Amino acid sequence: MTTVIMACPTCGFVIADFTEEQMAAEERVAKRYQYLKKKQTLCPNCLIATKRLKELRGAEADEAKAAAPVFSGEILTPEEVEGFEEAEAAETPLLDELENGPWPSHVTELKKSKYHMMMYEEGMRLRQTQWGFGGYVSLPGVAAGILVRASARPDIARGANFMRMLAPSGGYYTTDMLRTVCDITDEHAYGLLHLHSAGGDIEILGIPTEDLEPTVKALNEHGFDVGSTSDAYRNSVDCLGMSRCDVALTDSMGMRDAWYKRYLDDVQYPRFPHKLKVRFSGCPNDCARAQQKSGIALVGVFRDLPRVDGDRLTEWVGRGGDMNAIVRMCPTRAMIWDGKSLEIDADSCVRCMFCINKCSYAIRPGVDRGVAIVVGAKFRGKYGPLLGKVLTPFVPANPPDYNEVFEIADRVADAFDEHARRKERLGDMIFRVGMDQFTEWVGVEPSPRQMAEPRTNVYYHWKAEELGR
Ligand code: SF4
Ligand code: SF4
Repeated sequence: MTTVIMACPTCGFVIADFTEEQMAAEERVAKRYQYLKKKQTLCPNCLIATKRLKELRGAEADEAKAAAPVFSGEILTPEEVEGFEEAEAAETPLLDELENGPWPSHVTELKKSKYHMMMYEEGMRLRQTQWGFGGYVSLPGVAAGILVRASARPDIARGANFMRMLAPSGGYYTTDMLRTVCDITDEHAYGLLHLHSAGGDIEILGIPTEDLEPTVKALNEHGFDVGSTSDAYRNSVDCLGMSRCDVALTDSMGMRDAWYKRYLDDVQYPRFPHKLKVRFSGCPNDCARAQQKSGIALVGVFRDLPRVDGDRLTEWVGRGGDMNAIVRMCPTRAMIWDGKSLEIDADSCVRCMFCINKCSYAIRPGVDRGVAIVVGAKFRGKYGPLLGKVLTPFVPANPPDYNEVFEIADRVADAFDEHARRKERLGDMIFRVGMDQFTEWVGVEPSPRQMAEPRTNVYYHWKAEELGR
């Protein structure tokens, strides 16, 4: 067995530890190695960002591993911080003010935790957070899921580690699950949770470095997974789908579970040029905001027409329902209503769900159901917020493994992996190369649905001969 380590060039902390044999046998390990070779990394030990990690092999690696720092003490528990007791005992007039009054106070609650209250007081006094830069870090065996926040006030707190755990589908927690997470947080961290972050995961705040691995172990023992940082698939968000919603067209929770079963490794081992988010919505109402927030949005759709129950519609109108208002608001004017019967023009209807939402008693979704794959949405990144573009308007959604859907999603991820620049989001890459080039890479026929504004759309390039020139 030949050891290979990737270590911080400044302090020697080992960030990844493999063997050459593992790299040859496991694709995941090989990809992780290639990724770490190119990546700028924040060392969890000395908090110095390095352009390249130090790579050592064989006897040299074994020697460096034995000599590497395990925990340098740079990120300390509150009790270990020099002068911490004095800092804690210092007066906090601004925070005290927030405890006054008859209403519940978050400061009173925060004081029950191990959070550094003086960081908050000083932040309020100076009107600026006293926490400094932060970043994602990897430890051997925990490649994704840990964030480090440095401190601008080492006299109060040197820094803090956060950990992200993946949420259950639909956000369904049992009280037992939540109690378990709270107990782990009390034992190993500040005793504070961020529930949920914008990415839909739970963040456990303030874990001392030496407690990181025990925390991961404790979470894993109770069936929770850690991940969702760095350049990997992030935590997926889904809607409640068929568990609660009577217009759900696909089982968004079941599809998310199948996704995790298939891709958990890619969630936990960063290897893409940048992060890649996947979200699942059961219908075009898109309660998971998949088409605004995720590189790959899997949205339940139907391709026949909305089903109209004439008797129920008459009853609904008789009870005061305003069908004229719905017809007026149909975005493509696809509905023809003569006061008694309703017709929907198949060519005009875009299956937007509006009429179904407004009158679900009489108008129901069609029965020919599947998934639309929408790509490239994001909030941040080079070209700012971008909405998703339809890549494939209809793919059959066949449980339990949803192979047809995931095979296309795989091709999207491969194209992203191969062609994106470093730290370029999928939406920015598509914007840069054009939708025509992207569809060619993914092996999908271009379609008018991929264009927001034909002939002016930068996402599609026409050849001169196509324009008759
Ligand atoms: Fe229901 Fe559709 Fe919203 Fe999912 S996206 S919760 S299926 S309305
Ligand atoms: Fe109009 Fe939307 Fe209803 Fe189709 S689904 S008829 S586009 S409101």
